[in-house]
Amino acid sequence: MSPEDRQRLSEVRAALRASLKPFGPDYWRDIDEKKLFPTAVFDVMGAAGWFGTLVPEEHGGAGAGPAVASVVVDEIGRAGGDATCINAQMSICGTLVRDGSPEQRKRWLPDVVTGAVRFLTVAATEPDSGADMTQLESTAVRDGDGWILDARKVLISLAEHTRLMILLTRSEEGPTLFLLDLDEVRSRVEIRPVPLVTNRLTTMVFVDALRVDDSARLGPPGGGLAALMKGFPVRRALAAAEALGHARFMLDVSLAHAKTRVTFGRPIGRNQGVQYPLAQAYARIEAADLMRWDALDLIDAGDPGASGRSALAKLLASEAAWEMARAALTTFGGWGLAAEYHVERKLRESTVYLFNNLLWSYVAERVLELPKAQ
Ligand SMILES: Cc1cc2nc3c(=O)[nH]c(=O)nc-3n(C[C@H](O)[C@H](O)[C@H](O)COP(=O)(O)OP(=O)(O)OC[C@H]3O[C@@H](n4cnc5c(N)ncnc54)[C@H](O)[C@@H]3O)c2cc1C
Repeated sequence: MSPEDRQRLSEVRAALRASLKPFGPDYWRDIDEKKLFPTAVFDVMGAAGWFGTLVPEEHGGAGAGPAVASVVVDEIGRAGGDATCINAQMSICGTLVRDGSPEQRKRWLPDVVTGAVRFLTVAATEPDSGADMTQLESTAVRDGDGWILDARKVLISLAEHTRLMILLTRSEEGPTLFLLDLDEVRSRVEIRPVPLVTNRLTTMVFVDALRVDDSARLGPPGGGLAALMKGFPVRRALAAAEALGHARFMLDVSLAHAKTRVTFGRPIGRNQGVQYPLAQAYARIEAADLMRWDALDLIDAGDPGASGRSALAKLLASEAAWEMARAALTTFGGWGLAAEYHVERKLRESTVYLFNNLLWSYVAERVLELPKAQ
């Protein structure tokens, strides 16, 4: 990274810290406890223009790029927040930018950039196929100049709070995407909450014999998975940044606690049993962060190695956050489990990055060129 880029990113961090100041950990604890959408933060981020970070200027965005987006995400986490919805609004529109028709881009991107239209959801996972996207049961069947869509999707984030949703189906040509305007199709779409360990506002989505014009198709018939996969390196780098934000928050509060909490007549941070886990977690966070920046450099350069690098960044960052949560529990003792100290919330938030088997499999097969696992 050049000195100019470093300077630019530190200015981004300073601007974000100023915007996020009113939204400290207590704000986020309240959002989490009440299972709310963080509307106030969303609106502030939209007004400040951050939703256009990944949208090229020709479509009304700032085109600032993935490195800036990753800083947006990790700063929210480090401030004690959960960047899920901000990350979604910045990054999910990438598929529309790359594969949308000129009409779709013109219709939606300017309002996505301001936040006037929420674009928070990709509905891909299905009850039976789970992680295996080659076995889709949701269908898109041609009907004259349109399509009839039937779909059952599970574990879908933010569907109750979004206006635009990308729906992955199977047409006779193969996996095919549609861009649904839920304001228009709500009567044939049922959304049911699925409460999870953390406030991801997760749902099941049922689409029942919904007829849409061909203009709702996003990208070519049969090209749906390929279109989604083009966004994976950036999505993984941003997931790494989310995990790192949580990890750094936990490190900050743990260090403060270790230095000030006194038992047996000395700060607990003077005990090796408290110091070493913190030092080890710190080492893991720093190493994962270096991998995040390496992945972002390769993404910026258009290097094909970005895919493997971003996978490593996500893997290492999610493990680092998990280990950091463990070290934070050691530091806080019983208070680590009390909502008041925010560690238990960050611990819960850190669990959602841990489903890494398919990424390990990707690294083994595509980076290390091992045979496909059985
Ligand atoms: C918080 C949260 C938010 C989510 N949001 C969305 C969303 O917005 N949109 C969306 O489409 N999906 C979303 N998902 C779903 C997520 O993508 C799926 O959980 C994931 O694809 C795995 O599917 P599954 O949970 O059915 O697990 P399964 O497919 O049943 O897998 C179970 C376990 O087995 C492992 N496994 C499966 N096959 C293999 C294999 N071949 N080799 C090794 N291990 C294997 C998996 O890694 C996993 O650990 C979300 C999930 C969570 C937890």
